[in-house]
Amino acid sequence: MRMNTVASPSRIRHRTHASMTKLTLEKRAAEVISLLKKAYPAARCALNFSSPEELLVATILSAQSTDSTVNLVTPVLFSTFPVPDRLAGAPISDIERIIKPCGYYHQKARYIKGTCAMLLNEYGGKVPRSLDKLLSLPGVARKTANVVLSVAFGINEGIAVDTHVLRLSGRLGFTFSSNPVIVERELMQIVERKNWGDFTTLLITHGRKICTARRPLCGNCTLNRVCPSAFTFSPAQAIHHRRRGA
Ligand code: SF4
Repeated sequence: MRMNTVASPSRIRHRTHASMTKLTLEKRAAEVISLLKKAYPAARCALNFSSPEELLVATILSAQSTDSTVNLVTPVLFSTFPVPDRLAGAPISDIERIIKPCGYYHQKARYIKGTCAMLLNEYGGKVPRSLDKLLSLPGVARKTANVVLSVAFGINEGIAVDTHVLRLSGRLGFTFSSNPVIVERELMQIVERKNWGDFTTLLITHGRKICTARRPLCGNCTLNRVCPSAFTFSPAQAIHHRRRGA
Protein backbone atom coordinates (compact mmCIF):
# COMPACT_ATOMS: atom_id res chain seq x y z
CA MET A 1 0.00 0.00 0.00
CA ARG A 2 1.33 3.41 -0.92
CA MET A 3 1.95 5.58 2.07
CA ASN A 4 1.94 9.38 2.11
CA THR A 5 5.11 11.02 3.41
CA VAL A 6 3.12 13.95 4.78
CA ALA A 7 -0.21 13.77 6.54
CA SER A 8 -2.97 15.01 4.25
CA PRO A 9 -5.32 17.69 5.64
CA SER A 10 -8.26 15.30 5.29
CA ARG A 11 -6.45 12.64 7.29
CA ILE A 12 -5.57 15.07 10.04
CA ARG A 13 -9.13 16.39 9.94
CA HIS A 14 -10.52 12.88 10.36
CA ARG A 15 -8.20 12.12 13.25
CA THR A 16 -8.96 15.49 14.82
CA HIS A 17 -12.68 14.87 14.66
CA ALA A 18 -12.21 11.43 16.21
CA SER A 19 -10.16 12.94 19.01
CA MET A 20 -12.76 15.61 19.68
CA THR A 21 -15.44 13.01 20.40
CA LYS A 22 -13.34 11.66 23.28
CA LEU A 23 -12.05 14.84 24.72
CA THR A 24 -13.32 18.33 24.14
CA LEU A 25 -11.04 20.84 22.52
CA GLU A 26 -10.99 22.85 25.73
CA LYS A 27 -9.86 19.87 27.76
CA ARG A 28 -7.28 18.91 25.18
CA ALA A 29 -5.93 22.47 25.08
CA ALA A 30 -5.65 22.40 28.88
CA GLU A 31 -3.87 19.06 28.71
CA VAL A 32 -1.45 20.35 26.06
CA ILE A 33 -0.63 23.36 28.24
CA SER A 34 -0.17 21.19 31.32
CA LEU A 35 2.17 18.78 29.49
CA LEU A 36 4.19 21.60 27.95
CA LYS A 37 4.52 23.40 31.30
CA LYS A 38 6.02 20.22 32.71
CA ALA A 39 8.34 19.87 29.72
CA TYR A 40 9.40 23.53 29.74
CA PRO A 41 9.05 24.87 33.31
CA ALA A 42 11.36 27.80 32.55
CA ALA A 43 9.89 28.74 29.16
CA ARG A 44 10.03 32.48 28.56
CA CYS A 45 10.04 35.03 25.80
CA ALA A 46 13.39 34.62 24.01
CA LEU A 47 13.88 38.33 23.32
CA ASN A 48 16.26 40.21 25.65
CA PHE A 49 15.02 43.51 27.08
CA SER A 50 15.24 45.58 30.23
CA SER A 51 12.01 47.59 29.97
CA PRO A 52 8.59 47.35 28.29
CA GLU A 53 9.75 50.02 25.83
CA GLU A 54 12.76 47.92 24.80
CA LEU A 55 10.54 44.83 24.51
CA LEU A 56 8.21 46.74 22.19
CA VAL A 57 11.06 47.78 19.90
CA ALA A 58 12.59 44.29 19.98
CA THR A 59 9.25 42.70 19.09
CA ILE A 60 8.79 45.05 16.12
CA LEU A 61 12.28 44.08 14.93
CA SER A 62 11.51 40.36 15.32
CA ALA A 63 8.96 40.32 12.47
CA GLN A 64 10.31 38.12 9.65
CA SER A 65 13.51 37.67 11.67
CA THR A 66 14.78 35.39 14.43
CA ASP A 67 14.93 36.24 18.11
CA SER A 68 18.65 35.40 18.17
CA THR A 69 19.33 37.94 15.40
CA VAL A 70 17.30 40.57 17.25
CA ASN A 71 19.22 39.80 20.44
CA LEU A 72 22.47 40.47 18.61
CA VAL A 73 21.23 43.82 17.31
CA THR A 74 19.38 45.30 20.27
CA PRO A 75 22.33 45.71 22.69
CA VAL A 76 24.03 47.94 20.11
CA LEU A 77 20.80 49.76 19.27
CA PHE A 78 19.74 50.39 22.87
CA SER A 79 23.20 51.48 24.05
CA THR A 80 23.58 53.86 21.10
CA PHE A 81 20.03 55.20 21.18
CA PRO A 82 18.25 54.61 24.52
CA VAL A 83 14.51 53.97 24.14
CA PRO A 84 12.34 55.91 23.61
CA ASP A 85 13.78 59.45 23.69
CA ARG A 86 17.12 59.05 21.90
CA LEU A 87 15.77 56.52 19.41
CA ALA A 88 12.90 58.87 18.53
CA GLY A 89 15.42 61.54 17.54
CA ALA A 90 18.02 59.30 15.93
CA PRO A 91 18.93 59.72 12.24
CA ILE A 92 17.07 57.08 10.25
CA SER A 93 20.25 56.07 8.40
CA ASP A 94 22.00 55.30 11.70
CA ILE A 95 19.08 53.15 12.87
CA GLU A 96 19.02 51.31 9.55
CA ARG A 97 22.73 50.54 9.72
CA ILE A 98 22.39 48.95 13.16
CA ILE A 99 19.21 46.95 12.53
CA LYS A 100 20.06 45.81 8.99
CA PRO A 101 20.64 42.13 10.03
CA CYS A 102 16.97 41.92 11.09
CA GLY A 103 15.76 42.43 7.50
CA TYR A 104 13.17 44.91 6.19
CA TYR A 105 15.38 47.51 7.86
CA HIS A 106 14.10 50.56 5.94
CA GLN A 107 10.54 49.88 7.07
CA LYS A 108 11.48 48.71 10.58
CA ALA A 109 13.65 51.81 11.15
CA ARG A 110 10.67 54.03 10.34
CA TYR A 111 8.41 51.95 12.57
CA ILE A 112 10.62 51.98 15.66
CA LYS A 113 11.50 55.66 15.30
CA GLY A 114 7.81 56.52 14.79
CA THR A 115 6.71 54.31 17.67
CA CYS A 116 9.24 55.91 20.03
CA ALA A 117 8.06 59.37 18.96
CA MET A 118 4.44 58.40 19.70
CA LEU A 119 5.40 56.94 23.08
CA LEU A 120 7.02 60.27 23.95
CA ASN A 121 4.33 62.54 22.53
CA GLU A 122 1.20 60.65 23.57
CA TYR A 123 2.01 58.19 26.34
CA GLY A 124 4.55 59.94 28.57
CA GLY A 125 7.40 57.84 27.20
CA LYS A 126 5.83 54.60 28.43
CA VAL A 127 4.24 51.65 26.65
CA PRO A 128 0.46 51.93 27.02
CA ARG A 129 -1.24 48.95 28.72
CA SER A 130 -4.11 48.80 26.25
CA LEU A 131 -4.50 46.75 23.10
CA ASP A 132 -6.20 49.57 21.19
CA LYS A 133 -3.51 52.09 22.10
CA LEU A 134 -0.74 49.67 21.21
CA LEU A 135 -2.37 48.99 17.84
CA SER A 136 -2.23 52.73 17.08
CA LEU A 137 1.59 52.65 17.10
CA PRO A 138 3.52 52.29 13.81
CA GLY A 139 4.50 48.70 13.05
CA VAL A 140 2.40 47.24 15.86
CA ALA A 141 -0.16 44.60 14.88
CA ARG A 142 -2.02 42.15 17.10
CA LYS A 143 0.86 39.70 17.48
CA THR A 144 3.27 42.37 18.71
CA ALA A 145 0.65 43.99 20.95
CA ASN A 146 -0.29 40.64 22.52
CA VAL A 147 3.35 39.74 23.17
CA VAL A 148 4.11 43.09 24.82
CA LEU A 149 0.97 43.11 26.99
CA SER A 150 1.50 39.54 28.13
CA VAL A 151 5.29 39.48 28.60
CA ALA A 152 5.78 43.00 29.97
CA PHE A 153 2.62 43.37 32.05
CA GLY A 154 1.02 39.93 32.41
CA ILE A 155 -2.09 41.24 30.64
CA ASN A 156 -3.90 38.68 28.46
CA GLU A 157 -5.93 40.56 25.85
CA GLY A 158 -5.38 38.02 23.06
CA ILE A 159 -3.13 35.19 21.92
CA ALA A 160 -0.02 36.06 19.92
CA VAL A 161 -0.01 33.85 16.80
CA ASP A 162 3.39 33.57 15.17
CA THR A 163 4.57 30.96 12.68
CA HIS A 164 5.13 28.32 15.41
CA VAL A 165 1.76 28.89 17.07
CA LEU A 166 0.09 28.75 13.65
CA ARG A 167 1.79 25.48 12.67
CA LEU A 168 1.34 23.70 16.00
CA SER A 169 -2.28 24.80 16.42
CA GLY A 170 -3.05 23.14 13.09
CA ARG A 171 -1.13 19.97 13.88
CA LEU A 172 -2.75 19.74 17.30
CA GLY A 173 -6.18 19.98 15.68
CA PHE A 174 -7.14 23.27 17.34
CA THR A 175 -7.85 24.95 14.00
CA PHE A 176 -8.15 24.25 10.28
CA SER A 177 -7.39 27.85 9.36
CA SER A 178 -4.06 29.33 8.29
CA ASN A 179 -5.25 32.89 8.86
CA PRO A 180 -3.63 34.20 12.09
CA VAL A 181 -6.62 36.41 12.91
CA ILE A 182 -9.05 33.48 12.66
CA VAL A 183 -6.65 31.15 14.48
CA GLU A 184 -6.30 33.63 17.34
CA ARG A 185 -10.09 33.92 17.63
CA GLU A 186 -10.51 30.14 17.67
CA LEU A 187 -7.74 29.64 20.21
CA MET A 188 -9.24 32.28 22.49
CA GLN A 189 -12.40 30.15 22.61
CA ILE A 190 -10.67 26.99 23.78
CA VAL A 191 -7.69 28.18 25.85
CA GLU A 192 -8.35 29.51 29.36
CA ARG A 193 -7.68 33.26 29.41
CA LYS A 194 -5.20 32.99 32.27
CA ASN A 195 -3.07 30.77 30.00
CA TRP A 196 -3.11 32.89 26.82
CA GLY A 197 0.39 34.28 27.29
CA ASP A 198 1.86 30.95 28.42
CA PHE A 199 0.19 29.18 25.49
CA THR A 200 2.15 31.28 22.99
CA THR A 201 5.45 30.95 24.85
CA LEU A 202 5.06 27.18 25.26
CA LEU A 203 4.07 26.51 21.64
CA ILE A 204 6.94 28.64 20.34
CA THR A 205 9.38 26.76 22.60
CA HIS A 206 8.00 23.38 21.54
CA GLY A 207 7.94 24.40 17.88
CA ARG A 208 11.62 25.31 18.00
CA LYS A 209 12.78 22.22 19.88
CA ILE A 210 10.52 19.33 18.83
CA CYS A 211 7.63 20.11 16.49
CA THR A 212 9.75 21.79 13.85
CA ALA A 213 8.33 22.77 10.47
CA ARG A 214 10.25 20.23 8.38
CA ARG A 215 10.90 17.34 10.74
CA PRO A 216 8.65 17.04 13.78
CA LEU A 217 10.21 14.67 16.33
CA CYS A 218 6.99 12.90 17.31
CA GLY A 219 8.87 10.05 19.02
CA ASN A 220 10.39 12.52 21.47
CA CYS A 221 7.26 14.64 21.86
CA THR A 222 5.48 14.91 25.18
CA LEU A 223 2.25 15.58 23.27
CA ASN A 224 2.27 12.50 21.03
CA ARG A 225 -0.60 10.81 22.86
CA VAL A 226 -2.91 13.80 22.56
CA CYS A 227 -1.84 15.08 19.12
CA PRO A 228 -3.97 14.03 16.13
CA SER A 229 -1.01 14.53 13.79
CA ALA A 230 1.44 12.38 15.75
CA PHE A 231 3.52 9.99 13.63
CA THR A 232 1.81 10.95 10.39
CA PHE A 233 4.72 12.72 8.73
CA SER A 234 6.76 9.84 7.32
CA PRO A 235 6.39 6.10 6.61
CA ALA A 236 8.90 5.33 9.39
CA GLN A 237 6.88 7.34 11.90
CA ALA A 238 3.64 5.65 10.82
CA ILE A 239 5.18 2.16 11.25
CA HIS A 240 6.51 3.14 14.69
CA HIS A 241 3.07 4.45 15.59
CA ARG A 242 1.34 1.20 14.57
CA ARG A 243 3.85 -0.91 16.53
CA ARG A 244 3.09 1.14 19.60
CA GLY A 245 -0.55 0.16 19.09
CA ALA A 246 -1.62 3.76 19.19
S1 SF4 B 1 3.24 14.61 18.18
FE1 SF4 B 1 4.45 15.27 16.41
S2 SF4 B 1 3.08 16.61 15.22
FE2 SF4 B 1 2.20 16.39 17.28
S3 SF4 B 1 2.99 18.13 18.46
FE3 SF4 B 1 4.39 16.44 18.80
S4 SF4 B 1 6.00 16.65 17.27
FE4 SF4 B 1 4.26 17.93 16.63
